[in-house]
Amino acid sequence: MQLVKNFINGEFVEGEAKKTFEKHSPIDNRVIALISEAGKADVDAAVRAAHAARQGVWGGLTTDQRVDLLYGVANEITRRFEDFVAAEMADTGQPRHVMTSAFIPRGAANFKVFADVVKNVPSESFQMATPDGRGAINYAIRVPKGVVGVISPWNAPFLLMTWKVGPALACGNTVVVKPSEETPFTTTLLGEVMNTVGIPKGVFNVIQGFGPNSAGEFLTQHPLVDAITFTGETRTGTAIMKAAAEGMRDVSFELGGKNAAIVFADADFDAAVEGVFRSAFLNSGQVCLGTERVYVERPLFERFVQALKVRAEAVKFGRPDDHNANYGPLISAEHKQKVMSYYAKAVAEGATVVTGGGVPVMPSDLVDGHWVQPTIWTGLPETASVVREEIFGPCCHISPFDSEDEVVNKANDNVYGLATTIWTTNLSRAHRVAARVEVGISWVNSWFLRDLRTAFGGSKQSGIGREGGVHSLEFYTETRNICVKL
Ligand code: NAD
Repeated sequence: MQLVKNFINGEFVEGEAKKTFEKHSPIDNRVIALISEAGKADVDAAVRAAHAARQGVWGGLTTDQRVDLLYGVANEITRRFEDFVAAEMADTGQPRHVMTSAFIPRGAANFKVFADVVKNVPSESFQMATPDGRGAINYAIRVPKGVVGVISPWNAPFLLMTWKVGPALACGNTVVVKPSEETPFTTTLLGEVMNTVGIPKGVFNVIQGFGPNSAGEFLTQHPLVDAITFTGETRTGTAIMKAAAEGMRDVSFELGGKNAAIVFADADFDAAVEGVFRSAFLNSGQVCLGTERVYVERPLFERFVQALKVRAEAVKFGRPDDHNANYGPLISAEHKQKVMSYYAKAVAEGATVVTGGGVPVMPSDLVDGHWVQPTIWTGLPETASVVREEIFGPCCHISPFDSEDEVVNKANDNVYGLATTIWTTNLSRAHRVAARVEVGISWVNSWFLRDLRTAFGGSKQSGIGREGGVHSLEFYTETRNICVKL
């Protein structure tokens, strides 16, 4: 059985206590690897290695030298594309085409794009008058924060982890990464890439384990961690924020969502159906930006519900590398249980189940996997728990609306504010509504179209701060002002 190790100071090592836990395959629940859990001493070793590298060789490199190394990382990921695809498929059970078209290329891009950003961004400068008439010049330099703790989730593990590691390293920080306990493979593989490319020891470290009373918590509590970037559930963010308060460490949080899709009667019907199908069901609904609330203008409502039902019922479940399949399982037995409990709750709350609501019939070799049906509900009030709470599964509730004000109010009536997708051919309305929905990202006539130079993050309980392009520099560096009297 494969043993997945920690990556500390350039070496793959077992945890000192030799404790392991199992990695189960999402497709059939078989144990496919043992993972070495990092204890307090291992996390301490990783953080100290990162601290030493920051003070030492990594801190001594010029921006150009760092940038060249990060281009090397992007190229090496591309060279080992198939290894990363296989590792991510094993981690998540999602179809190969999702890995090859989006998740793995984006991982490589996250190194290249942020290398470009740090190379090209200017700094500010102000001239000022002084009483003696000679004046002074202020200019700003950006300095790295130091050691950044990176804590990432399981739903798009490689993309979401590199989205943080790329800019952190480009800005001159060193990192200690705690991937999700559900998805250890691609982050570990990145350790091999770092060594091949010649990234100095200690710059990139990986510790495996869980959150509370395990590697995650030990990392957030370590006094030599200067900043923490986290993607995951809002309530985990609350726990991490409390830990970060000790020592006044900065945080960047990308958290949960309960995103709305708004479909106006004048929308391009086929594009809207296809777009909402993707936003609700891609990655088996396990996308933070995904749609779980759909509002359709009344004249289009029945037709839209029927069309989305047809689309949802056409998915083909199967193994990630099965060319006849296009739909994967949920990540874990625990997550399946959570999603299924919401499926039961929807019925108990009086929903009309348009399609799904259960588990698909699977062949005997896959029957123990975490498969659930794409599910559509109608008929619930806005107060129902499946309309209010993040489920993070392949499901959505569709309700009709009659006016722009009504739908904006409904979209905004939630504690989350991550993303929305608006479907209309009325240009003025598109701009108007996009500006009024309280979210970090509004898409018009599209979804998940991402330019990595733009601001990414959530409003309300969906996050703190923005990353992407120069916005990432705001978090991964500090601005130091230098005032020179002339
Ligand atoms: P999670 O919060 O359960 O876990 C995320 C990570 O935090 C894991 O590595 C976990 O081990 C670690 N962790 C848990 N408790 C911790 C603690 N007390 N201290 C330190 N680390 C701890 O989230 P998940 O279930 O892995 O991911 C799904 C969630 O992530 C959903 O809510 C989804 O919306 C959110 N998400 C948000 C975005 C975004 O960009 N806003 C992107 C992807 C996922």
